[in-house]
Amino acid sequence: MKFKDLGLCYEILSSIKDIGYNEPTEIQKKAIPNVLMGRDILGCAQTGTGKTGSFIMPLIEILNSGKSKSRMPRSLIIAPTRELAMQVSEEFIKINKYLKLKMALLIGGISFGEQDFKLSKGVDVLVATPGRLLDHIERGTVLIKDVKLLVIDEADRMLDMGFIPDVIKINKLLPKIRQTLFFSATLSNEIRDIGKNLLINPKEILINPYSSTSANIDSIFIKTNSKNKMNDLKTLLSIGTIKSAMIFCNKKADINNVSNFLKKNNFKTASLHGDMEQNLRIKSLENFKNKSVQILIASDVAARGIDIDGLSHVFNYDVPNNPEDYVHRIGRTGRAGNKGKAYTIFVENDHKTITSIEKLIKKKVKKMSINELVSSLDLSNQKSLRIKKIKGKEKHKNKSKLDLLPIENYSNFRESGKIPDFLNIK
Ligand code: AMP
Repeated sequence: MKFKDLGLCYEILSSIKDIGYNEPTEIQKKAIPNVLMGRDILGCAQTGTGKTGSFIMPLIEILNSGKSKSRMPRSLIIAPTRELAMQVSEEFIKINKYLKLKMALLIGGISFGEQDFKLSKGVDVLVATPGRLLDHIERGTVLIKDVKLLVIDEADRMLDMGFIPDVIKINKLLPKIRQTLFFSATLSNEIRDIGKNLLINPKEILINPYSSTSANIDSIFIKTNSKNKMNDLKTLLSIGTIKSAMIFCNKKADINNVSNFLKKNNFKTASLHGDMEQNLRIKSLENFKNKSVQILIASDVAARGIDIDGLSHVFNYDVPNNPEDYVHRIGRTGRAGNKGKAYTIFVENDHKTITSIEKLIKKKVKKMSINELVSSLDLSNQKSLRIKKIKGKEKHKNKSKLDLLPIENYSNFRESGKIPDFLNIK
């Protein structure tokens, strides 16, 4: 099935072509025709499946024939985090390229004045986080009683973050007769119950269950102790060819600690967590997306749903407390047919959580120490770099790195916190 078979207009097809999407993803094939027929949707899909396009493309098609009114948006997209809302708005801007629909983004950290001005001019599409939307409703700057199309994105995350009461409040202010598209990465009974209150006879679409990890991701667990975590992370960052990497930490304090440690060791990093000012969060993400920094150190909440082109590595500085977050974190890499690597650092106390992760993904993960990993690596593709570093020692040309450095010596390097020079490849 091609995009042109889905019932989208010429302008949308042209912008899709410009973006470079060759054919619709599975969720797009299944959702778009149903949305265009006016059906409600209960979609179970993770980010990375093309889910955003699956609701943005038909939403634009539907709204294209109509006019916006001041302060009364015709559609509403609710997302749990600012970053996700921004990503949705970016996808909207790309698909709307040849059309003239107007959109406002209502998220915290952006001035009310600016948002108020856009609302007063009239918007077709409102993309919002629940809290900021309710703030606007209470101030009387927006009325949602004219919304014809509602999209709830990442409903399970809304539940985790305690936003469902806000969504229920918003729902009470929306017209009963409307179309609703409801997406969640998981479909627990609780999520289904929430969906039942919002949807009428929905078309159920299930894509790529959340409990599986992509076959494109090589995932390894690195056993260590609390004392060696930082140095092991530094070693992991120094082996292999990293195009861009995300490091996940469970605690905000550790994001700062890891960031300071890596900066001291000449790595260029950016950070992303929920306590940062919005403008700093945007700056971190932009720098990471445009590749001016190679490493983003993030918390789960801030990184949820973030889509980075060509992310080659994910490092879990800690084992996530929630097994589903593991699937989500490592799923940032190995996307769109690319290969990815995921390393998770764990300590003795993490065994119980690892067992829950293995239960969820229904497979055993590889576990080894950093020494075992280094000795198992085939660094032949780094030989040229190594040889450059040991100029003049041509006699080593055909030897592996292990001939040059016995593994017991490597441990000494690790204890001292120094990476062997030839491994310190930037
Ligand atoms: P999402 O699931 O919405 O987070 O989308 C994940 C990634 O897939 C984004 O980078 C999109 O730009 C990309 N994408 C969406 N639709 C397509 C498509 N039909 N073909 C290729 N990439 C796509």
